[in-house]
Amino acid sequence: MNKFEQLGLNPSILKAVEEMGFESPSEIQEKAIPVLLNEDTDMVALAQTGTGKTAAFGFPLIQKINSNAKHTQALILSPTRELCLQITNELKNYSKFEKNLNAVAIYGGASITEQARQIERGAQIIVATPGRMQDMINRKLVNITKIDYCVLDEADEMLNMGFYEDITSILADTPKEKNTWLFSATMPKEVATIAKKFMKTPIEITVGTKNQGTSNVSHEYYLVNSRQRYEALKRLADANPDIFSVIFCRTKRDTQKVAEKLIEDGYSAAALHGDLSQNQRDLVMKSFRTKQIQMLVATDVAARGIDVDDITHVINYQLPDEIETYTHRSGRTGRAGKSGVSMVIVSKSEVRKIKSIERIIKQNFEQKDIPDGMEICRVQLFHLANDIKETKINHEIDPYLPSINEVLEGFSREELIKKFFSVEFTRFFNYYKNSPDLSTGGGSDRASGGGESTRFFINIGAKDGFDWMSLKDFLKATLDLGRDDVYKVDAKSTFSFFNTDASQTDKVLETFKDFKHNGRHIDVEVTTDSGRGGRKKGGGGKERSGKPFKGGKSGGRRSEGFNKKGRGDKKSGGRGKNIESSLKRRRSKK
Ligand code: ADP
Ligand code: MG
Repeated sequence: MNKFEQLGLNPSILKAVEEMGFESPSEIQEKAIPVLLNEDTDMVALAQTGTGKTAAFGFPLIQKINSNAKHTQALILSPTRELCLQITNELKNYSKFEKNLNAVAIYGGASITEQARQIERGAQIIVATPGRMQDMINRKLVNITKIDYCVLDEADEMLNMGFYEDITSILADTPKEKNTWLFSATMPKEVATIAKKFMKTPIEITVGTKNQGTSNVSHEYYLVNSRQRYEALKRLADANPDIFSVIFCRTKRDTQKVAEKLIEDGYSAAALHGDLSQNQRDLVMKSFRTKQIQMLVATDVAARGIDVDDITHVINYQLPDEIETYTHRSGRTGRAGKSGVSMVIVSKSEVRKIKSIERIIKQNFEQKDIPDGMEICRVQLFHLANDIKETKINHEIDPYLPSINEVLEGFSREELIKKFFSVEFTRFFNYYKNSPDLSTGGGSDRASGGGESTRFFINIGAKDGFDWMSLKDFLKATLDLGRDDVYKVDAKSTFSFFNTDASQTDKVLETFKDFKHNGRHIDVEVTTDSGRGGRKKGGGGKERSGKPFKGGKSGGRRSEGFNKKGRGDKKSGGRGKNIESSLKRRRSKK
């Protein structure tokens, strides 16, 4: 008898378990499943992210539900659309051999009528975000008055996201006799309150220490001057060439800003936050999953559903407001038995928060210095050597070899290697040779090359129905420019600002000469005033603070799916496995 059989699961679930390749139950599954199968009880179960909580409630739920009855018997509330879809998908896998069982996901940002139709067809299990659920209850599109089970998944996160009212009101619509199962990674006061208010003598199950972070994650912090946050971020990325990471910012705006800067600087990055449309978010997530994006800059809310297993680094660009949130962030890495690093960039004024986080995660941070330029050069050189070693030879170059050999005739192997590496090294070296030591809060950002940029004023704004994103889309479409060619779009109420490369100035002015939009005359002018960060004198107008990796327009912009369907060159999107693409990316024009 295998360990899943011992838990009391029925054959159809056991068959599904086998098919999914689960070998033995996780600790939370081992503890929760027999109890939930054998007793009609409320439960509070606490376990870290990634410990298999979905199956811990999903298996018992599927086994207990009467699939011959069509009415809704269980409601699972979960904080985000991504999680709802993930849970629904898991439930479908678990119930693969269970005829007639149907789980439907209900979430915002998609057609409510279509979701209502799915429920009407019969949904024994509804997996919903609280907001959309409340909406559907108000419109009488769902009936949850006969449910036997209610699961509050990621309860801490739902409360963090301000769903308290919705949850309370949804639960008021459910029968008293049902069982409520609450699953959470952490147990802040608010969760305890919910448990107390809505549950009857729940059985409590805890795996690991309460609030403990994942133990195969190491925690590091880097003390920097807050003006140098971005520069520090780049160094951390440069010092980890194989980085595959989520970078957390506090606000949507910072998230967008950091992602835009990274993209400008030639990194494969993208933003993920709630101001993006569902479609845009899907695209970003798809590119991230397939590793076409190396650095995903996200808000806490948007990152909640990320179920990508091999994230190497979590970078806290800023610490979260609620230090409990840190556990969720660091839990994005070190999953599926792999190790991970959670890095925090802190300024002096925040450093005391590190101590509080240490108490919560019961692990110590290591204070580290931002790598200096020479260290990064060294890392990059060895990385390049490894890349070369791992690269499969592309025989498309064969026809050119005779002429290449001719050019390089007379050089010894040693000389060739030295020359080849110098191409890379000199670039890094030049970039980093005068760079300040960030860890001691040294000098200021170097001004550096990069094209000049022009800032424009345009006489449309929020009053005309534009936010910065739709305005950016409008400008790109009208000007026929690429997705990164219009930037720093700042929509005010009756007017807005945006930037393009200086080389586009004439095109912009020409395009908007005598231009009408919805019958309105559009006026575009070059401006030096800006609202924020206008045209800079002297240094790189685009705040392109140096970029060893910055490719030219065609080579550098590798990130896919940023904001809009990318035009990026998909082939060059991988993680530098392919030396050609990696060279292309780094071939900086300086
Ligand atoms: P949590 O909700 O605790 O964060 P999930 O339920 O999302 O964790 O599970 C994390 C991952 O582990 C999922 O990919 C899931 O399919 C997988 N998983 C769950 N239980 C097992 C198991 N017993 N053996 C192997 N993998 C499992
Ligand atoms: Mg979960």
